[in-house]
Amino acid sequence: MRTESAKIRHKIELPKLVLAGEEIISSVGEELKKIEVRKVLIITSKTPYSLFKDKLVSSLNSESIKFRFLVDTFKTHKETIENFFSNEFLKEADTVAGFGGGKVIDVSKLIAEQKSKNFISIPTVPSHDGIASPLVSLPAEDRWYSRFSKTPLAVFADIEILSKAPQVYVSSGFGDIIGKLTAIKDWRLAHLLTGEYYGEYAAQQAKSCADSIIKKSEEIGTKSKEGVRALVEALISCGIVISIAGSSRPCSGSEHLFAHALDYVANFPSTHGLEVGIGTIMMSYLHDMDWMEIKENLEKAKAATTAKEIGVGEEQVVKALSLAAKIRPERYTILGEKGLTIEAATNLAKVTKVIKS
Ligand SMILES: [Zn+2]
Repeated sequence: MRTESAKIRHKIELPKLVLAGEEIISSVGEELKKIEVRKVLIITSKTPYSLFKDKLVSSLNSESIKFRFLVDTFKTHKETIENFFSNEFLKEADTVAGFGGGKVIDVSKLIAEQKSKNFISIPTVPSHDGIASPLVSLPAEDRWYSRFSKTPLAVFADIEILSKAPQVYVSSGFGDIIGKLTAIKDWRLAHLLTGEYYGEYAAQQAKSCADSIIKKSEEIGTKSKEGVRALVEALISCGIVISIAGSSRPCSGSEHLFAHALDYVANFPSTHGLEVGIGTIMMSYLHDMDWMEIKENLEKAKAATTAKEIGVGEEQVVKALSLAAKIRPERYTILGEKGLTIEAATNLAKVTKVIKS
């Protein structure tokens, strides 16, 4: 007789190809040819297009891969997506590539999913783990958190390009990864209290991503190639861990709920990773972890540790903390089912020095 758990299917979809290192951009054409990509619509924004397109263009031309660029400002993602859907070249393309920052990657992934095309990720800033994950985090009317979309067929991470990103995006990537320390604690807690599936392997992998960048926090804070490389490898690994777990659980817990709540309360005041970093300081306090060490490492990586640094008011932090548990009620975390009271939220933000005491 089949048991209930035997009936649960667990599907793992992974990228076919992940390339990280120097001069990667020049090998995109050659590698795409090997995996039979012939026509690519490359979605990008002004900065990556003007700074980094030349090597990509000659690499695609040398392998006779057909391509078109779609350059946009990405100010209003909804209209942007609708515009892109009517693109003529999209109809005949077999692949959509995202060549740029977080929003470019997210929009391209979503278009690839909705039009049943391959998705290729060519990130130019190491700001969050969406560069290799199947998740998109575009706010919709009914949700403020990420959802499953499409696993990249290939990821091309050129360290030379990625280390030219402004420091704030590199520090944001650090904040997104350090958040895995509290995310896996929340996951384990949910498993113990609600019986939710918990994958030890995926949790361990997420933890080693965080451990590996903590060792390099100073290098990440100075944007050395070694530091950026460690960060990019961790971001890619975390994206793959999400695919292995079949859920964002190992990479997104109460610290992410806080970041989503803050985006809701203060209308996207900062980058995702900086908000997650601040959330991690507070959630690690609740988990009785060494929150001061987390804060020190964020400082070394030049990531924000206070409300002031990300331009939000103290009352907005408290409101976001008290709302966080309600952002995604089915996701059990250290915040419990009801979430924090205003008084508990104020104390937490004060004791961790996110707001002034
Ligand atoms: Zn994240």
